[in-house]
Amino acid sequence: MNTQEYIQLDETYSAHNYKPLDVVIDRADGVWVHDVEGNKYLDCLSAYSAVSQGHCHPKIMQAMQDQMQRVTLTSRAFRNDQMGPFVKELCDLTGYEMALPMNSGAEAVETAIKAARKWGYKVKGVEDNQAQIIVCEGNFAGRTVTAISFSSEAQYKEDFGPLTPGFVTIPYGDAQALEAAITPQTVAFFVEPIQGEGGVIVPPKGYLKAAAGICARHNVLFVTDEIQTGLGRTGALFATEHEGVRPDIVTIGKALSGGFYPVSAVLADKEILGLFRPGDHGSTFGGNPLGAAVARAALQVIIEEDLVVRSRELGAYFQGRLERIESEHIKEVRGKGLFIGVELYVPARRFCEALRDRGILCKETHNTVIRFAPPLVIKKSEIDWAMERIEQVVLMD
Ligand SMILES: *Cc1c(COP(=O)(O)O)cnc(C)c1O
Repeated sequence: MNTQEYIQLDETYSAHNYKPLDVVIDRADGVWVHDVEGNKYLDCLSAYSAVSQGHCHPKIMQAMQDQMQRVTLTSRAFRNDQMGPFVKELCDLTGYEMALPMNSGAEAVETAIKAARKWGYKVKGVEDNQAQIIVCEGNFAGRTVTAISFSSEAQYKEDFGPLTPGFVTIPYGDAQALEAAITPQTVAFFVEPIQGEGGVIVPPKGYLKAAAGICARHNVLFVTDEIQTGLGRTGALFATEHEGVRPDIVTIGKALSGGFYPVSAVLADKEILGLFRPGDHGSTFGGNPLGAAVARAALQVIIEEDLVVRSRELGAYFQGRLERIESEHIKEVRGKGLFIGVELYVPARRFCEALRDRGILCKETHNTVIRFAPPLVIKKSEIDWAMERIEQVVLMD
């Protein structure tokens, strides 16, 4: 079958909830993906940062193959020999006392919201059903009903109500607005350290530190969503480390499994995650041995291949080269590590299509932004290869 035939199947038999670039991928390796026509592309999206370790990483693949021959799912009705080591290794790496494994990012977000609310009622003493969580304009937290309930994107919510109450929205990057929005019912401030889907929006320097301080002073949990920014993407294990901040709760997902299998988690100390009692929360697949084995290998790759430092150094190089392009189309280049947004004055789709035609896969975000987030295993020579093509494309009329 050719590209058009595959596209026809998608369009006929699946809901049209995405508008992908017309490239049909049939295999991938490291930073490269191949389509059914035999073309090869440098992946500059990494499945929204889920394949930070590179596609089909051999070590993660081996761990998955080994584990799938032993046991894949026990459910949490029984224990398995992968989950314990997984959460211990995750806690050792991140410095939290506990981790609650889930599957998709949106589920981790839901879990964090439940944990924060529970803490609000049990520890802070907020009156039943009165808990408020402060969020920011432009946030993205997934597509569950609760996650869209606090989105500021009209399209995400339209026709999907009634929505979940209990959220208060403030502008992103404004610490004063946070302080002003806090009430005795506020249990948490839930924020992305860099807004990914919002268009790679980097908040003003000092914002996260100020926000964490305000939360601490008002007995409000500082909760960060690092599903996209975490595990090295921005040149630090967590993006809040750039400001020396340690959140009370962190959600992670995406790169936690290197793209092999959905694995997410919520990190926090015992004071918070210890509040869950048997029956309070759960997931059939959460903490399953296959996912846990995959995630353990994915974390090892991040450590062994020094992906955090690679992201920092190569990201600075990549961003520097993008900043030096003189194109009338470019409004701003921003980002941290290998998490870079190029904002244009015009819609970005045409440029993403032109990049695809030259062998680079990117996707526009928020209409005018091109996000560059290649696997963290990318080499400098591959960035140079990409830059030649990116320069040609952004200099088009
Ligand atoms: C992708 C993402 C999510 C949702 O993750 P899914 O695995 O798609 O459910 C949540 N928060 C942020 C910041 C994300 O980038």
